[in-house]
Parts: sequence; structure tokens; C-alpha cells
Amino acid sequence: MTIHQSLPSVALPWLHNSDAGFASLGSDFATPTEATPLPAPHWVGCNDTLRAALALPQTLWLQPEALDLFTGNLSLAGVSSYASVYSGHQFGQWAGQLGDGRALNLGAIHTPDGLQELQLKGAGPTPYSRRGDGRAVLRSSIREFLASEAMHGLGIPTTRALCVTGSPAHVRREEVESAAVVTRVAPSFVRFGHFEHFASNGQLDALRALADHVVVAHFPALQSLQGPHRYTALLREVTHKTAELMAQWQAVGFCHGVMNTDNMSVLGLTLDYGPFQYLDGFDANHICNHSDHQGRYAYARQPQIAYWNLFCLGQALMPLIDEQAPALAALESYKEIFPAAMDQRMRDKLGLTGTHANDRTLVEDLLQALQQDRVDYTVFWRRLSVAVRESAQSKHAFAPVRDLFMHRDVFDAWCARYLERLGADKRQTIGETMLRTNPKYILRNHLGELAIRQAKAGNFAMVQDLLHVLHTPFDEHPTYEAWAGLAPEWASSIEISCSS
Ligand code: AMP
Ligand code: MG
Repeated sequence: MTIHQSLPSVALPWLHNSDAGFASLGSDFATPTEATPLPAPHWVGCNDTLRAALALPQTLWLQPEALDLFTGNLSLAGVSSYASVYSGHQFGQWAGQLGDGRALNLGAIHTPDGLQELQLKGAGPTPYSRRGDGRAVLRSSIREFLASEAMHGLGIPTTRALCVTGSPAHVRREEVESAAVVTRVAPSFVRFGHFEHFASNGQLDALRALADHVVVAHFPALQSLQGPHRYTALLREVTHKTAELMAQWQAVGFCHGVMNTDNMSVLGLTLDYGPFQYLDGFDANHICNHSDHQGRYAYARQPQIAYWNLFCLGQALMPLIDEQAPALAALESYKEIFPAAMDQRMRDKLGLTGTHANDRTLVEDLLQALQQDRVDYTVFWRRLSVAVRESAQSKHAFAPVRDLFMHRDVFDAWCARYLERLGADKRQTIGETMLRTNPKYILRNHLGELAIRQAKAGNFAMVQDLLHVLHTPFDEHPTYEAWAGLAPEWASSIEISCSS
């Protein structure tokens, strides 16, 4: 397999990139790799909001060089693109070396928000492709593009997606599909698996260099700490961020699908969107990945799995921390941070202020009622928010929420307890706040599927429209009211496999 081809290179005046980011760690980490061009590229999705935030030119989407660069058909003068090596635990087993098999890093760019790494996903094979082709198909690229931006719109930490480009080139999966490339953006793509890699190889200098890089670039408050204290503090910070992220995923009903340690970001970002799903009807045991036969990554298990993954990170950092007790203490903090974060998220969703001894039971009983009737998770919260807002004026405000349940007596009993806890005052204001907390629009599987079907037929309008709506999921979008409705019958037949 030829990996190094000489791509035409250009200096782009609008892309002030540098090797100051991850690439500065050197050749143990960043393996120079060139993209493999794709024929006849075209735009599939353009994220102009992110384009502006990165201070890239307004004319970006009109520039042929941009289309070529983000497809992997051009290289940047002066900076070599690279793939990074990492390892990881997949489905609970040590998988050994993995690495960027189809992600190609273009280096870091200077933006108003500081350095951001640019990464092309699907731009051809790398030294870490193993048996893979280094490509991504249109279907999964659209899903990743929309999902990362939906996550951002929901206020949940995530890698971002600047654009998707497509090509008629064939990619073989279960069937022949067409190729696409997603341009991802993040302050860092460092994964738990990067640490596991150097630890498992006994490359302790590299392990320390990586940890120091992450501290200096991303946790500057820890810089003054030296030796084991620094790395213990790093583990505690990652634990904290991961716990917060899990609370956010659970609260919004997001199921990642492949929480392997190589898909876990040390910055606590949602990373690597594969067979993910936002819940339609609430089911704590929902498994969104059809290859996950044991349900290891079922929705309700995610917080526990994150904790397991953090132990793998802790294990990898042990050579730098030396003693077990502080490392364990850092990890154990998860057991307090996650439940506290989760309780707070649920109180926010319910519009409750202060804390009350019975709050957790109130939430648990609600989830049980939602589970029993498989009530649509997003529609429930949205209707509840509207009901609270209207309840100051109307006696029947809760009827639309009640209608979602088959066991109405169960809902009635729960609702009476809820209203007592909520109190009678300021219902309108509380309801307004709940409407800023409980989204109206999520990237339901069937919406992604419809956008994909249209895109396969050469129409990218729905990708762009969904992007707009998902960027502002708490707002009303009357034109797109249908996208806030319940999933249609056929949605349950959509099978999302690991193939992408
Ligand atoms: P994932 O489960 O998508 O996170 O991928 C796990 C590993 O497989 C990572 O090292 C990926 O880079 C690699 N991989 C997945 N798909 C491909 C592909 N089509 N070509 C090369 N490597 C791939
Ligand atoms: Mg991955």
C-alpha cells in the first residue's frame, strides 16, 4: 500500500497553522502521512457558524483550494500532516495498538479561541489503518457532522465539525457506497488510548512528555505542580470532566455506542461518533450499536463504563504517579462528582431549585414511568416545560404531558408529587428556564436517515437545514415543527452498525 504520495502543496493565507499543537511532541507521536486524493470532490455540508468562529474567510466555501484541502487533495506548505498512534481497550479487552487509521491531522490553527487542531476523517490510509481502507462513507460522515454540531448546540462538550466533502469514489462496506471526508476541529484529539499506548510499551519518557503537553496546553492551572502531584491532578481533572460529560449525555438521552478507551477524550469531549443515538422512547437498557451484543455500552451503563475507562487511564498514568493511594483517590472522586452532576442536571430539567431529600426518588420514579410506557424522552421534557409555564394560567396545562403515558394513574401520582415540590410561585419563569434546558430538537435517527437519503440523491439541503435547527435546539423553528415530533414507525427499523 502506498501511503506517501506527493500532494500539491499550497500556502493558504487564511490558514495560520503551526506545529505548536500535538505535532510539537515529535515523531514518537506524530507520524508524517499524506492524504490520498479523491476524485471530483464536492461540498456536502458547510458549517458557516464554526467557519466564522475560527475566523476563516467568508468566501471559504467558494474557494476551490478549500474544497481540495478539506478532501485531502492538497497539502499545506510548511507543515506536514500526520497520523498519531494510540492503543486502547475495546469492549473491555486490551486491543493493543490502534491509531489514527483514517484520521489525518493537518496541525493546529490559530483561532480567536486559541489553538485548534484540524483533522480530516476519511482522507485515506495511514500507517495505522491495519486492514482498513482509511475511508469514511457519506452516510457516517453526515451523521458525525450533524451529531457533533447538535451536541455543541445542546451545550455539551464535543469535537466540532467544520465541513463534509463528498466524492463519487467507491467505498466498499456491506454494499458499495460513496466516499466522504469530515473536517473535525478540537483543541485536542488526545484520547485515553494515547496514554495507554506509551504506558503499555514502557515508553515512560514519551508518556511523561504527553502528560506534560496535555497539562501545559489544556490544564494550565496544573502547571505549577511538579512530579507525581501534577499527574495525579491531571487524572483528577480528567475524571471530573468525564463525570460532567456523562451527566450531560444521560440528561439529554445520548447513547454513544462505542465507549472504548480509544474513543475517550482527555478533555472530556464527546469524540468519535459512530453508531450513536439520541433516545426516542425512553429505555434505560437501549443498545444503539447493533454489534454490541452484550449491551456493554447500553444507555444506562455509560456512566459506569466511563468510570471503568478512567481506571484504564489511571493505570496508564501510574508510572508517573508512583503511589496507588492518590491515583485511587483521584478516580474515586468520580463516585461523588457524577451523582452530584447528574442530580443537578435532572433538577434543572425539572425546574427545581434548592435540594430536597426526596429529589432523587422523584427522578427515579419518573424514569421508571417513562420506561414503562417507553415515553418519548425529548417530547416529554419539552411538554413538561411548556406545561409548567402554562400552569400559572391554565388548569389543564399538564394534559399534553399526561397524554404521553398509557399508565395515566402512574403519571398523575408522580405529577402531584412533582407539583408539590415545584411550588406554586414563578411557574412562568421556571417554565421559560426549563425551555432553555430541555431541547425541542435532537438529531433523531430518522432525521439523520432522511438527510442521508437525500444527500445520496445529490440533494444536500436537509443536511444544511438540520445543521441550522440543531445549532439552536432550544428555539422554536415553526418551519421545521415536524422535526420535533415523535419518531415515525419506520425509525425503529433503522439499524446502525459499526460499519462506517
Ligand atoms: P472506531 O471503532 O471507529 O473508533 O475505530 C477503531 C479503530 O479502527 C481506530 O484505530 C480507527 O482509526 C480504525 N478504523 C476504523 N475504520 C477504519 C477504516 N475504514 N480504515 C482504517 N482504519 C479504520
Ligand atoms: Mg475511534
